[in-house]
Amino acid sequence: SKQLGKNRCQFYSQDMQEAARLRVQLETELRMAIERKEFVLFYQPIIDAERGCVSGAEALLRWHHPSRGIVAPDEFITIAEDTGLIVPIGAWVLSEVLRQANAWRIRGLPPLRVAVNVSGVQFREQGLVEMITQASCTPGFDEITLVLEITESVLMQSSEVTEARLREIGLLGIEYSLDDFGTGYSSLSYLKRFPVGHVKIDRSFVNDCTDDRNDALLVEAIINMAHSLGLKVTAEGVETERQRAFLRARNCDYLQGYLISEPLPAADFELFVLRNGSR
Ligand code: C2E
Ligand code: CA
Ligand code: CA
Ligand code: CA
Repeated sequence: SKQLGKNRCQFYSQDMQEAARLRVQLETELRMAIERKEFVLFYQPIIDAERGCVSGAEALLRWHHPSRGIVAPDEFITIAEDTGLIVPIGAWVLSEVLRQANAWRIRGLPPLRVAVNVSGVQFREQGLVEMITQASCTPGFDEITLVLEITESVLMQSSEVTEARLREIGLLGIEYSLDDFGTGYSSLSYLKRFPVGHVKIDRSFVNDCTDDRNDALLVEAIINMAHSLGLKVTAEGVETERQRAFLRARNCDYLQGYLISEPLPAADFELFVLRNGSR
């Protein structure tokens, strides 16, 4: 009825107002989160699919909010991107990874590949190359192979400037991995233009590869095409033994997902490496 519809509209706009209010509040709190040392990095192990040993980790950001508890990145990365706060946050992530890498070296851990997510907003920033060049001079840098995970949108919207940035950063010995592969335009052919050495198959395809014939074919095709272009492949979101078996049988190079391990605090990741070995 009309009355019901009207009430719904009111509820709807109340929800919208509430959402807007929460967003403004999160934005204010996000601005203070770095100085207040509220960010923490978790490390999710990435293993060699064939041998099972640890190849490295993906660093994933967590916000330890004073009253909300641990806030997942999906709830604040977009706000950070819209407000430009992702730039100082991204710089913090990189310096924290390198600090941790140096601490791991001192504690006798072998060299690992550590991947960091870099958003498109950061790539459009002029200061990115300088920030990363400076980071490459800190003691942790030589202890790991640093991998930047970028999404297809970075490459699709790429200008000559972005391309030059990608190459300049690549000269520091930093590698690139194309994240969420399969969700965007997904043309592997343009990858030849860029210094990208890895692709990560999005977990939505990995999820259904053992149940859905189309996803199975797609995963198989991505692995084969990537290999024929000389790229390594990581499958993300591996949750079951059947998925692992499927991926190994199709020569996927690396595996990441809850079956192997959830993202771990640094100390637990260290134990994981000691238990499972590395290469
Ligand atoms: P992503 O880069 O695709 O990261 C993988 C996400 O999948 C992580 O969520 C991880 O916890 C989750 N995941 C791992 N294994 C499994 C699994 O087996 N099943 C399922 N269902 N999920 C799994 P998380 O940590 O919540 O991060 C979400 C997104 O936030 C990331 O997606 C990434 O795009 C972004 N993000 C995280 N940390 C950073 C950062 O430091 N900087 C930037 N710019 N973005 C970040
Ligand atoms: Ca990622
Ligand atoms: Ca991903
Ligand atoms: Ca994602």
